[in-house]
Amino acid sequence: MQVVSTLEELQSSRGSLPSPFGIVPTMGYLHEGHLSLARRARQECASVGVSIFVNPAQFGPQEDLDAYPRDIDRDLGQLEAEGVDLVWMPTVEVMYSPGFQTWVDVEEITQVLEGARRPGHFRGVTTVVSKLFNAMQPDRAYFGQKDAQQAAVIRRMVADLNFPIEIIVCPIVREADGLAMSSRNSYLAPAQRTAATVLHRALTAAAGAYEGGQRDAEELRSLMIEILSIEPLARVQYVSVADPETLHELSGSNERALLSMAVFVGKTRLIDNMLVGMVESVDR
Ligand code: AMP
Repeated sequence: MQVVSTLEELQSSRGSLPSPFGIVPTMGYLHEGHLSLARRARQECASVGVSIFVNPAQFGPQEDLDAYPRDIDRDLGQLEAEGVDLVWMPTVEVMYSPGFQTWVDVEEITQVLEGARRPGHFRGVTTVVSKLFNAMQPDRAYFGQKDAQQAAVIRRMVADLNFPIEIIVCPIVREADGLAMSSRNSYLAPAQRTAATVLHRALTAAAGAYEGGQRDAEELRSLMIEILSIEPLARVQYVSVADPETLHELSGSNERALLSMAVFVGKTRLIDNMLVGMVESVDR
């Protein structure tokens, strides 16, 4: 496994890798969710690259950039074990060189859900992902359904800007008790960790109601809010029942929906989601 930092090293390593080349963009502190993407890429591609970069541009001023967990040695051990060929770990200076002033902005679907609560977040994401795509030149890129809006925004960007890259979205990997894996789960104290399972319980209840015939968006939203409100350590930021493609909030009865939420447990902001009514839950 080659581990590189500069653009020159990256380009010289990339040149010798066979096609199709699949990449997994990450911010490190890897868990089974990230590794599931690397494994899928390993199965489907002739060579696999992973980027590790905690991107300052996608954090708000009050967010956890400085506290974001890091463990590069452990990350590299895990990626080596998955048979990854190339790891790119650029520094902030490599990514945002002096004078940097060019941004990629997907205008509409970034205005709702995460984008509405995290101003500038998706501009940071789409800019850094564009730079990763340009620098790494992948044929395919693997993302997690955990960040459902991010996946939708990147699909839009790839279509709008003609990136010749196939975007593959992989299912959410969860802990045994349902909590969606996240690097940020490491912030949770034991009682908070237990409380954090309420997100999955709320989503499962709404998905169950949907399967049982409840199609009304407002009813599904109320059900999720009701379950979240039982947990005293949880503070809801938003609960959404939205169109899976446009991400517009739904009303009335619908044949498919993206159920999603952001919930604070203590100071830790957790997000989770579930698709209902989709023949195939997530994929290409
Ligand atoms: P991050 O390091 O948080 O930026 O995540 C890197 C990639 O891993 C993103 O495409 C995430 O959606 C994906 N990811 C994070 N957590 C999970 C999870 N629990 N299951 C599946 N994919 C995940």
